[in-house]
Amino acid sequence: MTQTRDWSIPQDLPETMVIGGEPVTAGGGGAIETIDPATGRIIGRFPDADANDVDRAVTNAKQALQGEWRSFTPAARGRILYQTAALIRADAELLARVETLESGKPIREARGDIETAAGYFEYYAGIADKLQGDTIPLGPDYMSFTLHEPVGVTAHIIPWNFPLVTTARGVAPALAAGNTAVVKPAEQTSLTSLMLAEILLRAGLPAGVCNIITGFGPSAGGPLSAHPDVAHVTFTGSVVTGKTVMQTAAEHVASVTLELGGKSPVVVLADADLEAAVEGCLKAIYLNAGQVCSAGSRLVVERPVYAQMMDRLVAGAEALTLGHGLDDAPLGPLISQQQLDRVAGYVDNARAASISVATGGHVAEVEGLEGGVFYAPTILDDVATDAIVAQEEIFGPVLCVQVVDSPEEAISVANSTEFGLVAGIYTRDVTRALNFARDVDAGQIFINQYFAGGIATPFGGTKNSGFGREKGLAALASYYQVKCVTARI
Ligand code: ADP
Ligand code: MG
Repeated sequence: MTQTRDWSIPQDLPETMVIGGEPVTAGGGGAIETIDPATGRIIGRFPDADANDVDRAVTNAKQALQGEWRSFTPAARGRILYQTAALIRADAELLARVETLESGKPIREARGDIETAAGYFEYYAGIADKLQGDTIPLGPDYMSFTLHEPVGVTAHIIPWNFPLVTTARGVAPALAAGNTAVVKPAEQTSLTSLMLAEILLRAGLPAGVCNIITGFGPSAGGPLSAHPDVAHVTFTGSVVTGKTVMQTAAEHVASVTLELGGKSPVVVLADADLEAAVEGCLKAIYLNAGQVCSAGSRLVVERPVYAQMMDRLVAGAEALTLGHGLDDAPLGPLISQQQLDRVAGYVDNARAASISVATGGHVAEVEGLEGGVFYAPTILDDVATDAIVAQEEIFGPVLCVQVVDSPEEAISVANSTEFGLVAGIYTRDVTRALNFARDVDAGQIFINQYFAGGIATPFGGTKNSGFGREKGLAALASYYQVKCVTARI
């Protein structure tokens, strides 16, 4: 690894929110410091918004619905989204650097995320003028047709693990369909969403169409999901917070999309291409240090290949050195001390419950990064399905291995949690793979490549992983309402 050791913080990072196209500080005057989790140093600050600030943002978004934005043709909306994609790409290196500084993720991952964010704008730009309704044949004396109208003000509550890409994933289809938006990024990682607000204005988006407020969950996210003028809330985050958001949105009958956690299995059958399976498993659990809702956090392996898989995974995990994301370390820090404590707590409890730690299992010290929050890549061996670590989302670099004796048992173990976000399988037997796809209760099935797909493939959960779909054309369903017009002629 080349140690560039250039961890400098870019100049002129945003310090204000964007409401009605204007830079705005919090009414209460407070600010939140944002931290580089690899070093612990402060890299910037943004406003600590409260309910009054939220109200101001939603009011702007509501007014913008009736303003200039309403007169844009769908093609003109699409052109702004294309321009946004181009401007994101033009600023990609800066955005990636800021994302790495704020979230800790390796710069190659941040670069990938920024490109994906641009990709969302490009993808939904192309659909803006193709969202058309139906005509309904009622016989010669009637004419009936449907209109796809924007739902109104959409709220987007964003997690810290994929800051810009999650913002883009919601905002791009919302704008394509003619809505306005208020975005609340996570309090740990708000800078790139603020930078996006400025990019959208430069791309020609009218003021007030996309507003970004920064603040904490209860004091800013809460009032946003509770605001009576918000028509739809797109939420990505924890199950507990998702339930709260859904309850608050219910008070004013807003619709919600909830993308919550996962405990996703990666099944490896005895006939699998083990090289591909090892590579897939390592990426599934160590991408972004396991802080991924769709992480493959359980390996469900058939007994004949169990020992081989273990040897290769342990070797793979031990080869992952920890370091600063800007040095493109194989593995970066976790997001915060709180997250580190949470991950360490799960593993310590597992150890206390006599679960064997095949590798890792401890907080890691990294030379030169003593203020960072690092956890060693960890593999827990032969974990029973009812163990806490096999049931609850850890959100860290911790893989649980579960051994099975048949493809049927693999399906039942895959289904053995309250979550249903993703399930992966490695096998050369197409029938077994498709049986698995049929019988596993999850929103996405990955066959022979974990994280297969991308912008165009619908994403969302079943069970406690939530409902509603993002990405692909399926995401648009959240952002338009069907109005049916019927005439007696
Ligand atoms: P975590 O526990 O990892 O921070 P959360 O699900 O709590 O995950 O956070 C995801 C997003 O939800 C963040 O933007 C956070 O600020 C926001 N949030 C947290 N609590 C609430 C709440 N009560 N209402 C609305 N949003 C919230
Ligand atoms: Mg941070």
